[in-house]
Amino acid sequence: SVSIALFTGDLRLHDNPSLRGASGSADQVVPLFVVDHAIRDTGFPTPNRAAFLAGCLADLDARLRRTGARLAVRTGDVTEQVREVAAEAGAEQVHIAAGVSGYAQRREERLRRALESDGRLLVVHEAVVTAVAPGAVTPQGKDHYAVFTPYFRRWAEQGVRAPLPAPRRIPGARVRYGSLPSPSSLAAGTPSPTLPEGGETAARRRLGRWLDGPLEGYADGHDDLPGDLTSRLSPYLHFGCLSAAELVHRALALGGAGADAFVRQLAWRDFHHQVLAARPAAAHRDYRTRGDRWRADADEIDAWRAGRTGYPIVDAAMRQLRQEGWMHNRARLLAASFLTKTLYADWRTGARHFQELLVDADVANNQLNWQWAAGTGTDTRPNRVLNPLTQAQRFDPDGSYVRRYVPELAGIPGSAVHRPWRLPAAERAALEYPEPIVDLDVAAARFRRARGLDD
Ligand code: FAD
Repeated sequence: SVSIALFTGDLRLHDNPSLRGASGSADQVVPLFVVDHAIRDTGFPTPNRAAFLAGCLADLDARLRRTGARLAVRTGDVTEQVREVAAEAGAEQVHIAAGVSGYAQRREERLRRALESDGRLLVVHEAVVTAVAPGAVTPQGKDHYAVFTPYFRRWAEQGVRAPLPAPRRIPGARVRYGSLPSPSSLAAGTPSPTLPEGGETAARRRLGRWLDGPLEGYADGHDDLPGDLTSRLSPYLHFGCLSAAELVHRALALGGAGADAFVRQLAWRDFHHQVLAARPAAAHRDYRTRGDRWRADADEIDAWRAGRTGYPIVDAAMRQLRQEGWMHNRARLLAASFLTKTLYADWRTGARHFQELLVDADVANNQLNWQWAAGTGTDTRPNRVLNPLTQAQRFDPDGSYVRRYVPELAGIPGSAVHRPWRLPAAERAALEYPEPIVDLDVAAARFRRARGLDD
């Protein structure tokens, strides 16, 4: 007998219930990935994510080959492609992980109906995108938690399911395998110059190194911009090269303040997923309306995108995004606060730009963190404004984060780099660097008025 293991957001061998389910249910398995045209048409595949995804698929194929199987790749409508491969291989069952997004749920339903009409079975395994599935913990009488702290308490009480080991042998089936996609076949355009390498192998290497040392200092170091002391595992979590459940178990087994702080961040990821699952409209509409009438100054927004606002810490953040397809969490927070509160521009504009460049961009984390920063989401202090100069002083005190990403300012020593306008006139004039595009006091007053805080 033959089963198909259909990969979606779980591009890994470890802790993969549907891959194990497929290999346990049949003599032969076709591991399958479909480059889904419906996803392509949303514009979600960008050059950065395409480059990373191509790496993930090549690595998945290499790992499968060591077990006796190979990755089959098809392109097109996912239902049609799965049907065709199933007919070609004579598969009786198709195994898939339960989807958490609205799209994934509709895909599952269409597949089920199509396969049933062909006399085949769709076997749906538990959802593996998050450590705790959306909806698994809810407050009494409500469908989701709107505040993180009580969510986290229940999340920790509930516990996270134990991860499964990777299967050792997966006998492959006879079928046309197709070739692995190149990045340019997945999305047109040039990717950022320094992207992480995609795939479970790179992910596990990074995870091993992370757990082996840096995790210990995470509680104190996670906000240190130049130190760059966070795990940088987010792209691997996004593509499912790593299982969030495995991360929770392995961190907790090591124990300590670093592990606790890290697990708390993984719970934030689950928190945003459960908000979006219950309120899918939060992807594009305010979760909590504050009556904002956002400004749309095209020059200011362009300057923010290009990292030329004249505020070095904001510009360093925006340049890191463009260069690496990733940004430190503290940098995301202050860049988002600058756009939505200082410039008072719509959070959707910022979310779209992040989505274009981030390798880890996902609707739940990106959109809901943007709403958090804009004060239209779940932040319990929606009107706080992060002052970029204070943030710079606290999180990049000697200015080395700025010097790393803003080459025009690389020659300015120490914290003076955060205020180039204070340099002697001749030195200032020699810099190819803009004046601040906005006065912070004027901007703060504008925001307070707009939110009705002065009444
Ligand atoms: P670590 O500090 O090592 O944390 C470990 C993991 O916990 C991360 O990989 C991530 O999966 C999760 N995590 C950490 N912080 C958060 C958080 N605030 N919300 C949700 N999960 C979190 N994260 C994304 O994965 N995708 C996004 O599209 C995204 N967009 C963001 C947009 C804005 C405006 C802001 C403020 C934050 C956004 N984040 C997003 C959250 C966070 O910035 C990144 O997850 C984090 O910087 C990734 O780096 P890391 O893996 O080194 O994190």
